[in-house]
Amino acid sequence: MPEELARLQKILETGQRLSRQGSYERRTPHKEAVPYLTESRKDLRQFLREQPKSAEAWLLLSLAEECLLNYPAALQSLEHFLALGGERNKKTLKRLASLKEYGRKWAELMLSPDNLESLGVFLDGELAKSSCDHSLRLTKSWLASHITSNQAHVLEALRKSGGYCDCEVLFNVVGNS
Ligand SMILES: [Zn+2]
Repeated sequence: MPEELARLQKILETGQRLSRQGSYERRTPHKEAVPYLTESRKDLRQFLREQPKSAEAWLLLSLAEECLLNYPAALQSLEHFLALGGERNKKTLKRLASLKEYGRKWAELMLSPDNLESLGVFLDGELAKSSCDHSLRLTKSWLASHITSNQAHVLEALRKSGGYCDCEVLFNVVGNS
């Protein structure tokens, strides 16, 4: 690996460590991690402008994009990696499938990662005070104050993802996003 790439990998790894993201639980990275993740992403993009055929740089970029919850870009970078002869092992193919799944889900919901996180915090807090009344009352009230348009469409997408009431939105939609 070229020296510059090894340096960028170190920065990315620091960001990954600080992000406190579990692999099965995609949440916005911890704020301490963000400067490392954005720096590695910026420098990797620069590196790839000069050496667009570096498969390993595309792989690192896809990891940085994924940590920053930018799934379409993470997917695209991973596809570049594979197209340039990157190893198609089980782990990579599994990542490819989950990036497609995450991307589809988030696009369908039309909620940004930050929105989804904020909805989760809100529902978690409210449902700790009083149990779910089997409606989308809390979700609707959050949407009314956070989403300016297309609230009906977002509700429909939440139902399609298994969120028919507030506790289901929290566990089926937000919880495994
Ligand atoms: Zn419920």
